[in-house]
Amino acid sequence: MHDSLRTTGVVLAGAAFLLAGAVATRTAANSHNPVQTQIAARTEAKSSAKPSGVPAVLNFKMKNLSGQDVDLARYKGRVVMMVNVASKCGYTPQYAGLQALHKKYAAKGLAILGFPANDFGAQEPGSDAEIGEFCQKNYGVEFDMFAKTAVTGAQKNALYALLTSEKTNPKFAGEVKWNFEKFLIGRDGEILARFRSNVAPDSEEMTKAIEAALAAKAPAKTTPPAPTKAAKVIKTDAEWKRLLTPEQFYVMRQKGTERAFTGKYNDAKEKGIYQCAACGNELFSSDTKFESGTGWPSFWKPLAAQSIATHADTMLGMTRTEVVCSRCDAHLGHVFNDGPQPTGLRYCMNSVSLNLVPKQ
Ligand SMILES: [Zn+2]
Repeated sequence: MHDSLRTTGVVLAGAAFLLAGAVATRTAANSHNPVQTQIAARTEAKSSAKPSGVPAVLNFKMKNLSGQDVDLARYKGRVVMMVNVASKCGYTPQYAGLQALHKKYAAKGLAILGFPANDFGAQEPGSDAEIGEFCQKNYGVEFDMFAKTAVTGAQKNALYALLTSEKTNPKFAGEVKWNFEKFLIGRDGEILARFRSNVAPDSEEMTKAIEAALAAKAPAKTTPPAPTKAAKVIKTDAEWKRLLTPEQFYVMRQKGTERAFTGKYNDAKEKGIYQCAACGNELFSSDTKFESGTGWPSFWKPLAAQSIATHADTMLGMTRTEVVCSRCDAHLGHVFNDGPQPTGLRYCMNSVSLNLVPKQ
């Protein structure tokens, strides 16, 4: 029970990986007429209006090379790479690299989708049958190939409209400029990266991004984005003493209670987020603060279930439920069953344990 017995350090919990941005490659200025994209006719790809759970980027039906409809929802939960391809391009040999990626990663969850388009230098003049034969004969392509389509200009299909629009893909928006651009989509349907034509499928940059995306688990449908930091903060009493005021140390590390009606946030009405005064973990929103008349700042729910932890507290001969910061275990106060709806809970907090960060 003594904090001094704990070791010092920061334990990383939860895997976080960052790809977006770092792997985006952007090149020369766009040569396309911007008006063209504004009036882009949405052809070929039909939005199939799935009721739920299908990411927007997979909410399309596209025809494959044999002319059959393929619902892109079938790729849900996989890492998807969408590539616009062509048979007579300087980059056409990238088919070999793409097929190698398919061989290496398909079983781990990667799906490569090829979209032939005659948009750049008229380098995809053939029919769907000819394209299929070409891919088979020259590169043994086994990944999924779709019917000839348009990825830019007035005939741009709806999928590529989504991929290139500032509105629907703000991080990686902009017209496709040439054959063999690649969009990488995570298991959760988020667009993670975009690679221009000159980034080879077997480049370190691309394989790193694919491996990181494959390593990420598809999130459960009901999991909200975690607002709390994932790192646990563990320090000795001596270290906390240096960081906290004596009153904060007494309350947060020794489970003390500030005197009623003395705390600076008891009457606070300012909008913002209340953080843990010891570690900065986001704990409560001012939107859930209410006047309890108890003399301590009171909230009817934490910012997120994982912001706090609770323990049974039998000190002072009462059975109460102690509330601590989930990140640094600082004592914050107690929770009682006499709060307002919708939760009926009253999180009775010590002002000294909190730090209000006003809304900008
Ligand atoms: Zn904390």
